[in-house]
Amino acid sequence: MGVVVLEHVTKTFLMGGQKVHAVRDFSLDIDHGVFLAIAGPSGSGKSTVLNMIGCIDNPSEGRILIDGEDVSKKTADQLADLRARRIGFIFQTFNLLPVLTAYENVEYPLLQLSDVGRRERRERVEYFLNVVGLAQRKHNRPNQMSGGQRQRVAIARALAVQPSIVLADEPTANLDHKTGDAILELMREINRTLKTAFIFSTHDKRVMSMADRLVRIEDGRIAIIGEQDTNGKWHFQNLHGHTRQD
Ligand code: ADP
Ligand code: MG
Repeated sequence: MGVVVLEHVTKTFLMGGQKVHAVRDFSLDIDHGVFLAIAGPSGSGKSTVLNMIGCIDNPSEGRILIDGEDVSKKTADQLADLRARRIGFIFQTFNLLPVLTAYENVEYPLLQLSDVGRRERRERVEYFLNVVGLAQRKHNRPNQMSGGQRQRVAIARALAVQPSIVLADEPTANLDHKTGDAILELMREINRTLKTAFIFSTHDKRVMSMADRLVRIEDGRIAIIGEQDTNGKWHFQNLHGHTRQD
């Protein structure tokens, strides 16, 4: 069983008395250590899927298992703990705290973990700022850094809790192509060395091609599932069950 399993997950929102079917009958088994792209046009349901995997939103129907455990069976405290320790988040708009330095932003989620002492906290912050290449920038605040540097801080912050899954919602959408590619390459390198699973959404074709698994969503449903083999060849399976090779 994978690190995340979605079983017939549906999400319906009510908007002014109208039902919006954001996600429909979505089933997926996500492997440990994967580098998975969730692709699809704007409004297709990518953020809704990521928010449900990250336990910041609940399915209307179906269930989600994280490390084999049904998240709907957890108490509020257990869910908060799961979010704080096992899941890292990276957002399109970086979501750094503007009054904190790079160092303090990375340290912030660790302050919630009572079992991580001061010394370990300092070591982790230094280590992950180093991983993302920002050791020299640790005293800078977000407004003293470029977009790419801010996203690097956000990556270090997500990794600091040493999660098994990092969720990244269009992490390159606010970056120019070159910076976006560098961010993806950094995520890929961390994925390979630390074996952290990365699940990221995108509607950028170049970004998708860097994944080793691809799920394409259209109108809340899985349209295509793709897998890149060790020779870099993609194998696709579409929703009708036909397979083709490109
Ligand atoms: P994407 O991330 O692919 O752009 P979203 O998951 O944000 O797509 O949205 C999928 C659909 O669900 C859209 O039609 C969107 O308008 C709708 N939706 C998302 N969040 C909400 C919400 N909180 N309330 C009502 N409708 C929503
Ligand atoms: Mg979105």
